[in-house]
Amino acid sequence: MNKLAKAALLAACALCPLAAYAQDTDWKSVTRYDKAAAKKQLIDRFVKYVTFDTQSSDKTSAVPSTAGQKKFAKELAKELKKYGAKNVKTDQYGIVTAEIPSNSAKNPPAVAFLAHLDTALEASGKNVKPQVHTNYQGGDIVINAEKNMVISPFNSPQLARAKGHDIITASGDTLLGADDKTGVAVIMTLVQYLYDHPEMEHGTIKIAFTPDEETGMGVEKFNVPAFGANYAYTIDGSDLGQLTDETFNAKAFTAVFNGNRAVHPGSALNSPFADNVLMASDFHTLLPRHRRPETTSGRRGFILVDSVETQGDRTEVKGIIRAFSDEEIQELVNEITRAFNTVKGIHNKGKDFSLTFTDQYKNMKSVLPEQMVTLAEVSMRQEDIPPVRTAARGGTDGSQLSFMGLPTPDLFAGMYNIHSPLEYADADVMEASLRTVLRLVSLWNTQTETPQD
Ligand SMILES: [Zn+2]
Repeated sequence: MNKLAKAALLAACALCPLAAYAQDTDWKSVTRYDKAAAKKQLIDRFVKYVTFDTQSSDKTSAVPSTAGQKKFAKELAKELKKYGAKNVKTDQYGIVTAEIPSNSAKNPPAVAFLAHLDTALEASGKNVKPQVHTNYQGGDIVINAEKNMVISPFNSPQLARAKGHDIITASGDTLLGADDKTGVAVIMTLVQYLYDHPEMEHGTIKIAFTPDEETGMGVEKFNVPAFGANYAYTIDGSDLGQLTDETFNAKAFTAVFNGNRAVHPGSALNSPFADNVLMASDFHTLLPRHRRPETTSGRRGFILVDSVETQGDRTEVKGIIRAFSDEEIQELVNEITRAFNTVKGIHNKGKDFSLTFTDQYKNMKSVLPEQMVTLAEVSMRQEDIPPVRTAARGGTDGSQLSFMGLPTPDLFAGMYNIHSPLEYADADVMEASLRTVLRLVSLWNTQTETPQD
């Protein structure tokens, strides 16, 4: 290779994993990483955080939806300050932001880590009593003997790979709040780690804790330009190695059928009578059964009717479409249009039919620079964690943020059976998440150029 070609390759490859690997200094030996100590910090933080009741609510449009989230936000702001974070702010929405200034001789981009404050609506988050089951040796973990509540590899398959791990559960009456207090604990332990180890070189690190993820309302209030990060990762995923870089493309549809019911049904024959309820029901029946939520999985999208409402002569059918690619979502739009046109053809006495589609959210993959996902994969591989790229069959805070200008894939945090009283956290997977994030911070420090899409 001649000199010119080599220079060109290096320029093009400033972000390629191998270049990053070659430049990486081993943060573990530089900082004398102590796995047991890190795990203890994670567990101590986590069991404290879950005692804050931060369950969100969908009964209000206020953000945060519950006062408990603000209380938790205050506590986290205090802890951020204690461990040297600068610019620590809690705004009126309960969003906590902070910065760990760069100590790097290079000029790497500002990278952010985010987690959410709230817990799910499905089960209470009040008076959570965490139990730490150390050194799991297989078999049942009794959460509540009275209620006969256990987790085991039969109802929680990932436990089969958790031999020797420390498992944290609730006590049967509440959820645990591992979603997303595992993520909060990982990020806060990262902050303490960088404080305790000033010898570890890193660029500007931004931190944010956001409310109301479970209701999808929190990040709407997030001020992306003021935050000032170039790239972000949410720490809100489940099993070891999980790296979510895709979400659904989402559309909604409304079909309206107008009939004529102002005729006595006893004399409907050969009259202008037209049944809008039957039209809507035919429409629903004609939608493909092999494209329903319960008949699809993996990368296959679906159509779901959410409501059918009749008022006199008018019946309105509302539904959603979910698919990963633009092509597939178009295919499903076509299926719905065909069913709609068929109904129009059969029911020629109906009138003022309409079918409209609206965009809801988009697959974040289209706006994620591939390099930031690759860097996360390299971080995991360097920690002997096989990365598992995952496409979320839903939306995430990260998908919203990505389209607000802050590209944000999601990394695993060690939470399982979420949104249920059988929820648990695996402290060893949390520790692996912390190592991944530390490695990622170290790798980003080698990236002096802004990645291109
Ligand atoms: Zn979550």
